[in-house]
Amino acid sequence: MPSLTRVAAGERAALLTVESYDIELDLTGPAERFRSTSTVRFRAATPGAGTFVEVRPARLLGVRLNGAELDPAALDDNQFPLTGLAAENTLVVEAEMAYSNSGEGLHRFVDPADGETYLYAMSGMDNAQRIFACFDQPDLKAPVTLTVVAPPEWTVAGNGRLGTGPVSGRWVFAPTPPLATYFVTLVAGPYSVRRAEHDGIPLGLYCRRSLTEHLDRDIEEILTVTRQCLDRLHRLFGVRYPFDKYDQAFVPEFNMGAMENPGLVTLRDEYLPRSAVTDAERERRANVIAHEMSHMWFGDLVTLRWWDDLWLNESFAEYFGTRVTAEATRFDRAWITFALHRKAWGYAADQRPSTHPVAPAEVVDAAEALANLDGISYAKGASVLRQLVAWLGDDAFLAGLREYFAAHRFGNATLADLLAALATSSGRDLTGWAQVWLRQPRLNTVRTEVRLRDDGHYAEVALVQSAPPEHPVLRPHRIGVGLYDTEPAGEGIALWLRDRIEVDLDPAVDGGRTVLDGLSGQPAARLLLPNDGDLTFAKVRLDAGSVAAVPAALSELADPLARALFWAEALDAVTDGERPVADLVALVVAALPAETEVAVVQDVLARARNLLDRYLDPEVRPAALEQLAGACARLLAVAPPGGSGQLAAARGWISSTVDTARVAGWLAGKDVPDGLAVDAELRWAVLRRLAVLGAAGEPEIAAEQAADRSASGAEWAATCRAALPDPAAKEHAWRLLVGGTSLSNRLLEATARGFWQPEQAGLTDSYVERYFAEMPAAARRRTPWVADRVAGLGYPRYAVSARTRELAAALLARDDLPPGLRRVVVDEDDDLRRALAARR
Ligand SMILES: [Zn+2]
Repeated sequence: MPSLTRVAAGERAALLTVESYDIELDLTGPAERFRSTSTVRFRAATPGAGTFVEVRPARLLGVRLNGAELDPAALDDNQFPLTGLAAENTLVVEAEMAYSNSGEGLHRFVDPADGETYLYAMSGMDNAQRIFACFDQPDLKAPVTLTVVAPPEWTVAGNGRLGTGPVSGRWVFAPTPPLATYFVTLVAGPYSVRRAEHDGIPLGLYCRRSLTEHLDRDIEEILTVTRQCLDRLHRLFGVRYPFDKYDQAFVPEFNMGAMENPGLVTLRDEYLPRSAVTDAERERRANVIAHEMSHMWFGDLVTLRWWDDLWLNESFAEYFGTRVTAEATRFDRAWITFALHRKAWGYAADQRPSTHPVAPAEVVDAAEALANLDGISYAKGASVLRQLVAWLGDDAFLAGLREYFAAHRFGNATLADLLAALATSSGRDLTGWAQVWLRQPRLNTVRTEVRLRDDGHYAEVALVQSAPPEHPVLRPHRIGVGLYDTEPAGEGIALWLRDRIEVDLDPAVDGGRTVLDGLSGQPAARLLLPNDGDLTFAKVRLDAGSVAAVPAALSELADPLARALFWAEALDAVTDGERPVADLVALVVAALPAETEVAVVQDVLARARNLLDRYLDPEVRPAALEQLAGACARLLAVAPPGGSGQLAAARGWISSTVDTARVAGWLAGKDVPDGLAVDAELRWAVLRRLAVLGAAGEPEIAAEQAADRSASGAEWAATCRAALPDPAAKEHAWRLLVGGTSLSNRLLEATARGFWQPEQAGLTDSYVERYFAEMPAAARRRTPWVADRVAGLGYPRYAVSARTRELAAALLARDDLPPGLRRVVVDEDDDLRRALAARR
């Protein structure tokens, strides 16, 4: 199916002004389809000209333009041609549309817990046309009036407030302010609803019935975060929340974390957990709430003109989501999570062959925009904004944003519009800054170079900036440098910040080597941290003295952000193959049991495990895994009972232990650490490990699923089945992955997650070849999001060999690959390249 191009969108925007959408959906028909009637009123700048409208029906029933019936057979793929436009036009399109099971369009889900049916609409990025006929591009915004006919026992919500009804299942919603098509949403089904209010804004929370108890358990926390974020954003932006209500619907099988539909945010309902979660996971939910709310201004009130400026949505929402979470909620460590977890995503994406600028000059079509929903548009962009704030000052930054909101309220804008507003507010020309930070891909590495005098004082400390040879761009950085030392008063052993300097690296002045004059003559610090405070986006490398000191010193370091940055440096150096995995394992063993930040513990464990599984030869991996399991066991022994640290340690131990008898004992309540609840999710985690190791099979999985009829239970069961070290189980799972479209997005993902296991190389060897042979056809059968997810999760990531890379190269040489699959293979192959190099 063709993706709308930038050129075609530009031509259509020049011709059309859309005045309104009236959308009527009838959800009372048979299970597979719904009826959609879309009435579009629009003006044409050149009467007599032609254009097209998008619609992806199961069956197109009728098209009427200005009263004239058009032949439905004229539909060409997803485009219906419209010719001979008048100055004022009314278009009516009636169609039977298909529900989706891919999270795109109008998704239909039957809850295995109680058999109830739930719908939600996901229109981003170009899926509105799966729900109603529309001019599906972001800069043709128009007010939307939605009418829904639903079974009488259902609850329905849309972007706008309910106008009238429901009368006999007919819900008529009030017209909205102008919306981009990709924001149009609804939820429908026997949803549970909780209502509240804040500062004159009606608040609503929705979830499926079987999750109501979990919503009620967390409702105070969710509402408190919502209220705190609203207040904070009002203060920062100086512009009232621009829509007439703020509903948040937790919906099943949602692809992303959440979607910023004005007035009705949809969030994945894993954010209403049924089992114990860590405080880092609660922070994640708060951050998502803040992120989507930030979009109400960045994206919803002022919308990007075209997908080139995806960063005007995502970088800003990531930046303000993190900032508001840290400043206004109890989750004041949000920048620590950002520094270690989110930025690692950005650094990884920016070092791959598929990297792109934060603000690309030209995104050719919506499909490319979908691929750009990556660590660059989110984490790198947010980090670059943080750097901009450090450079411009917060007051000038916020003043520029207020100007930008005022100038483009309910309209569209571009990078140039934003830069103009910031230039006015700050009095600075941002052209050069934007050129190197927003228009150029790739990142710099900042190394500290230290020369010591004989007395142990610094003779010279310099920060040296470098860039990859294929993108030799050095950048101005405002950067902190922290000197960490033992307290002179000798108050115990903790390492404190002795001194911190902030300095501008300006390659135009010093060619990329900046001497920190203020440090010459000072006693050498035990640890010297470049990018202290995490103001900039750059890889860092420590001086040799600090590298040597980190393993012993890290657990004594009082500042959690500094610890996170030292962890990040160590992980990155191993990822780059500059230091062996064994060094990282030794650091984990030495310092992780003392780590008090659960977000850091979870991230370090996950990334260390990934490196261990891929970078180590099969002969040495088991010993390293045992050390990792040992570190988790020690953390488990010291973590306060019932706390987040205990849970994170337990999960880490479960997934790395080979002591099947002991871990299976937990299922029977044997030797469970005090305070640890072996609840539904933890039971499944145990069962997955037992399945991987061949210590549990289909009978145990079936029994667990029989006891847990929830949707999560079904997903876990799919993962466990795919993970079994059994040829028939692998063959069955593989057929699901490359087969038809009957399985939902989430069950496919769950199956893909289970399939490849580092312990099962011999068993899955033949599937390496099959991936490259069978995935292209499978990807073509699926919608883009699901195709990419299955291709990514289903990639033979543990087959670290030259042969896998040759197969990837042969596939990439073809010219008929779906673009999403090409992107996945390019990125995954690059990760294998690194792993292979590290093994050598
Ligand atoms: Zn977002």
